[in-house]
Amino acid sequence: MTAETLLKVEGVETFYGNIRALAGVDVEVKKGEIVSLIGANGAGKSTLMMTICGSPQARTGKVLFDGQDITRMPTHHIARLRIAQSPEGRRIFPRMTVYENLQMGASLDNQKFFQEDVEKMFTLFPRLKERQFQRGGTLSGGEQQMLAIARALMARPKLLMLDEPSLGLAPLVSKQIFAAIKLLNEQQGLTVFLVEQNAFAALKLSHRAYVLVNGSITMSGSGAELLANPEVRAAYLEGG
Ligand code: ATP
Repeated sequence: MTAETLLKVEGVETFYGNIRALAGVDVEVKKGEIVSLIGANGAGKSTLMMTICGSPQARTGKVLFDGQDITRMPTHHIARLRIAQSPEGRRIFPRMTVYENLQMGASLDNQKFFQEDVEKMFTLFPRLKERQFQRGGTLSGGEQQMLAIARALMARPKLLMLDEPSLGLAPLVSKQIFAAIKLLNEQQGLTVFLVEQNAFAALKLSHRAYVLVNGSITMSGSGAELLANPEVRAAYLEGG
């Protein structure tokens, strides 16, 4: 593959006080790829995603995005580089309507595309169109996840980062979410970095993936390679 690198994490160490949550992590995401990070509870998956967004910052190592060193950049500057994050727990605005949530996601630079982008989101997630005047807090878990993703997409991101998009969702709803991610990637070339505990779904969807154990990457490969790997199967795919 000769695609250009969009995100590069090099030797990153992140600490909470004196607890080292990331112990020298290397990850690369190329333009147009879906890359996933799998690992058990507490492995450091969310910490890596947050470190990429600048809070907490890496103590050592580097984070490069689209050719720029963003390791020490403040979070609000990083967001302006069009890295969109849909954090674990969804965090939509519960008192605002679906439509207003989407308005909050659109950046000032993209106002002229607003109507067009809202229509795209409604085509991707017809449920959101039906619910557009309903408050976010009244939506089901799956609909809130759709809204969180749609809101992130309203910023027209170069990179969409998703933290546990299937967490707490019924299998059928998770399937819809993963299908939407696949569609966005295939039709629009959207680059996606995905953190998931549902290793099977993540590996099936991803071009490449990394396994994180106790703050270190222990394995990487194509989604298909890791799906077939006996260690991955034993640890993450067979209820182990
Ligand atoms: P989960 O799937 O449960 O979210 P994770 O792989 O995303 O797990 P992290 O949340 O990144 O893991 O946590 C990595 C390690 O850092 C864990 O040992 C966790 O207890 C610790 N940790 C996370 N956040 C903090 C914090 N704010 N202060 C101190 N330690 C933290």
